[in-house]
Amino acid sequence: MIGTVAIGGGQLVDGTGADPIANALVLIENGRITYAGKASGASIPTGAKLVEADGASVMPGMFDVHVHISLSAPSSLLQEVTARSVGEAAFEVANNLADTVSGGVTTIRTVSDLAHLDIDAMKSIEKRKIRGPRVYPCGHGLTTTGGHGDIMPCWLSQSHGDISEVVDGPDEIRKGIRRQAKAGAKWIKLFQTGGVVDPHGRLDAEEFLPEEFQAAVDAATLLGLPICVHAHNKPAIMRCIKAGCRSVEHGMHFDEECAEAAKEHGTWLVPTLTVMDRILVHGAQAGIPDFMIENVQERTNKHHEYVKHAYDIGANIACGTDAGSLLTPHGSGGREIVQFVKCGLTPLQAIEVGTRNTAKLLKSEDTGSVEVGKLGDVVVVEGDILTDIRRLEVPGNMRNVMIGGQRVAAGGNPVLN
Ligand SMILES: [Zn+2]
Repeated sequence: MIGTVAIGGGQLVDGTGADPIANALVLIENGRITYAGKASGASIPTGAKLVEADGASVMPGMFDVHVHISLSAPSSLLQEVTARSVGEAAFEVANNLADTVSGGVTTIRTVSDLAHLDIDAMKSIEKRKIRGPRVYPCGHGLTTTGGHGDIMPCWLSQSHGDISEVVDGPDEIRKGIRRQAKAGAKWIKLFQTGGVVDPHGRLDAEEFLPEEFQAAVDAATLLGLPICVHAHNKPAIMRCIKAGCRSVEHGMHFDEECAEAAKEHGTWLVPTLTVMDRILVHGAQAGIPDFMIENVQERTNKHHEYVKHAYDIGANIACGTDAGSLLTPHGSGGREIVQFVKCGLTPLQAIEVGTRNTAKLLKSEDTGSVEVGKLGDVVVVEGDILTDIRRLEVPGNMRNVMIGGQRVAAGGNPVLN
């Protein structure tokens, strides 16, 4: 029983793209929003718990739909996945979940994680054994032998525990999908091209054969599981769109034609601009190999232009950062919103993409905006986020983070009650 929460004062940025409301009031009763508007338009019920929002902005909990919760933002993925036991990784997951909510992120989709720890995290959070965001897990991503998700070198056995499952041929890929479904995955993740961490040229190649890809789509569709696909080059992106996959991840070559086709088919682009930015800004100092930095450098300006173009023509864009992957901390949803502004969106538009629109990708109609009837996933951020969007990058600015009206983090730290 949470009772009534009244968030008073501050400016409301509700996530719908509507103009902000100064001196606002948000009421959350038993986990759901019952009022969101001018403070003068409603009275605070007696016994309500007051949350002070003076001098702050009130916005929806943020989303990050491209997360590896079992990775902790290392400078070398290989080192991370080979140096830990599953037990150690599990403790890191708990820590990463805390960092996620501390950064104002209240909903995540995981897109390939070790030992189904993402699915276990979802279950533990739902049972209230641990605190964390709402989780939409993929379990293991599916990758071909030598594919982007096949991180282990040949001499190390798969049983050590990779974040992906290696499957070749239609039968194996179907079985891989059924294993994820059995474990409780809500989405299916496929790796269809190389990534920026792969040696030059791999970004331009495809990995699953057309018949393997189609087998994956058929198996997932029958199970009612949406598919997200790691895809950089244009043939792979077009394959995803035409096959009815729900989201394209990264998509550095998501050009005008891709955007047009995506709009027609209702496909989403999750550009993960944050991880690219982190590699560019911090890569050299962290010792990331030059070719990886060059892979990003070569494409990043175009990538930003493509994101803006896709947004302008009305194609669907969602907020995902690649948190957990190279140098990208958990709880970075706000960083991706800042990146959208760098692409040319206004702060209001970027916040709408990062909240209400991203909720639509997950078909999570109950979250994503601060409107009557929605769940009380609300963040109180210090200062005016519309004049200084970069406030969203700093966990310490998250004065209060609530999930279903319950406080889960404050001032950049998780709270337990
Ligand atoms: Zn990723």
